[in-house]
Amino acid sequence: MSCCSLPLLKSHQNKIEKEHPCFAAGKSHQSGRIHLAVAPHCNISCNYCVRKFDCVNESRPGVTSRVISPDEAIAKVREAKESPIGSLLNVVGIAGPGDPLANESTFRTLELVRSHFPKLLLCISTNGLMLPEKIGQLKEIGISHLTVTLNALDAETGSKIYSYVDKDHKTYIGTDAAKLLIENQLEGIRLAVESGMAVKVNSVVIPGINETSLLDIAETIKAKGVEIHNIMPLIPQGKFRDLPVPTKEMMQAHRRQLSEILPQMTHCKQCRADAIGLL
Ligand code: SF4
Ligand code: SF4
Repeated sequence: MSCCSLPLLKSHQNKIEKEHPCFAAGKSHQSGRIHLAVAPHCNISCNYCVRKFDCVNESRPGVTSRVISPDEAIAKVREAKESPIGSLLNVVGIAGPGDPLANESTFRTLELVRSHFPKLLLCISTNGLMLPEKIGQLKEIGISHLTVTLNALDAETGSKIYSYVDKDHKTYIGTDAAKLLIENQLEGIRLAVESGMAVKVNSVVIPGINETSLLDIAETIKAKGVEIHNIMPLIPQGKFRDLPVPTKEMMQAHRRQLSEILPQMTHCKQCRADAIGLL
């Protein structure tokens, strides 16, 4: 990058931080988002996931969104934009119900939104497994905001969180699965920042499993240029149904400590995959 492109990039970053309700807490009552539930499939298995609900890496568990087609998605955006709060809706996001990058319909939908509503910001939330191979396509479509859920940095910890990872028609388990996922997440984050996207990292706080990894995660993502960290309390379900819920005090203590490294998102509402409106 040439040095004269830096001020331009900075002003671009300021703009995208300002307009996305999730990347700028102060804007969450002035700027809204439309989530399009076009992505049913997932390529990994998180032990806190119950597949009949939306992806809990970005959504409130226990609610299921009806999967819609790209054409239905465009009709939904049009209807929302024509509604009384239409002028406040600046962001279109795809966050499930599975992993957006594991679904071709995600890309078709984003292309349609880009051509019909070129002023809307585009946002994706992913587990990151396919990020390195899809980053070029995301960049070409014009994704400006990206969220990756990163819960561990070492394969040992990761193997306690993920049951399996599916990649290129092969299923990986144990530390092999976690290693592959973590490598792709970190490389994907690096490429996304490098391509000018505003990147947020979500981490699910899982008592007794990854709490001691949180500081390392924050340091690592900061070094890669991530702008904001969002830690979310585990909601015990699936294989983790017997684990304790992190208390409010525990979450506050983690956020206090982590805020010395990166800005913390405290206003995430864990929206459903088809949420519309202000946060
Ligand atoms: Fe479930 Fe989301 Fe994890 Fe996929 S990435 S297993 S949908 S929580
Ligand atoms: Fe923003 Fe959290 Fe809702 Fe995603 S789930 S749109 S990050 S508030």
